[in-house]
Amino acid sequence: MKILIADDEAISLRLLQRTLEHAGYEVMTVKNGRLAANLLCAPDGPRLAMLDWVMPEMDGPAVCREVRNRRKQPYVHLVLLTSKNSRQNIIEGLESGADDYLTKPFDPRELKARLRTGLRILELEDSLVEAREDMRFKATHDHLTQLFNRGVMLDLLARELTRTSRQSGCTTVLLGDLDHFKAINDTYGHVAGDDVLREVARRLLASCRSYDVVGRYGGEEFLIILNDCEAAHALDRAEEIRLAIDASPIVTSQGTLPVTMSIGVFASRDWSHLPPEDVLREVDIALYAAKAAGRNCIRMAPLHSATNAQPVQP
Ligand code: GH3
Ligand code: MG
Ligand code: MG
Repeated sequence: MKILIADDEAISLRLLQRTLEHAGYEVMTVKNGRLAANLLCAPDGPRLAMLDWVMPEMDGPAVCREVRNRRKQPYVHLVLLTSKNSRQNIIEGLESGADDYLTKPFDPRELKARLRTGLRILELEDSLVEAREDMRFKATHDHLTQLFNRGVMLDLLARELTRTSRQSGCTTVLLGDLDHFKAINDTYGHVAGDDVLREVARRLLASCRSYDVVGRYGGEEFLIILNDCEAAHALDRAEEIRLAIDASPIVTSQGTLPVTMSIGVFASRDWSHLPPEDVLREVDIALYAAKAAGRNCIRMAPLHSATNAQPVQP
C-alpha cells in the first residue's frame, strides 16, 4: 500500500520513512502541505497519509480539511503525527478531518498497529463500494447477456428522444427479434438457447458504435438506440447488424447453429415527436412486417405525418 509522509523536518521524515518502508509500505514523501493536499486529491493518489502539523504553505489540519472537501472517494485515511500534544490540539486535529492522531516521538509498534487499523477501514470501504457497484450493475443489466435491461433502455430511449427533438436531430430505434428461436430451445435445449442469446448480444455490441446503446428488451428481443442516426443511414446500420447475426452460425455447447434476426426500424425524424411508448409500438409493427415478409430482413416504420401525435415531454 502506498503511503504519503508530509513533514518538513528532514530527520523526522527520514526516520518515519525507514520505519514504514521496513513495515512494507511504498512511501512517498513531501515537505510542504500544499504538495501533500494535491497528491492526496489526485485520482490515483495515496490512500494513507501521515501528516505533520507545522509545514510550509499549508499546515496538517488544513491539508485534512482540503482532502475531505475535494476527495470524497475513495476514502483517504489521514493520520496527524506531531509534537503538538495538548488536548486542544488533538480535538482540533481530529475535527479538521484526521482519522487518527499520534505524537512525536512515536513508538514504531504503535504507529504500525494504528496504520493496520487504517488499512482495515480502507478494506471495509473498498468491499462496500464493490458491493454497491455490483448491485448497481445487477439493477441495470440483464443477467444472461450483461446488456442493459429493459428498464434502463426505456429510460435511455425517453431521454434520447427528448434530446434529439429539442435539437431537431434524429434518433433511430431498432427492434431485433431472433427468428424461430423457440425451435432452437425445443430442439437443442435452453442451455443452447442461452448460448445463442449471449453470442447474439456480443455480436450486437461489436457491430454498434460506442455511443449507440444496446439492450435486452425481452426474451429474444433486443432494442438498439442509434443516437443521432439519420433515416437515410438507418437502413444500412440495421443491415450491418442483421448481417452480423447471419454471417456465421453460432457455436453453442450443443452444436453450431445458424441463427437469423428480423429487425424493425424507426427513425424519429420521419415522424412528429412521439412519446417512447408510441415509438415502441411503431417499431414493433415494423418488426412484425419483417417477420411477415419472410424473416431475416429489415422493415422500416413507414413515413408518417402523425399530426395528432403527442409531443415528447422534455
Ligand atoms: P419468431 O420467428 O416469430 O420470432 O418465432 P420465435 O420462435 O423466435 O418466437 P416465440 O415468441 O414463439 O419464442 C420465443 C422463445 O424465446 C420462447 C421462450 O421460451 C424463449 N426465451 C425467452 N427468454 C429466454 C431465455 O432467457 N433463454 C432461453 N433459452 N430462451 C428464452
Ligand atoms: Mg423470435
Ligand atoms: Mg419474440
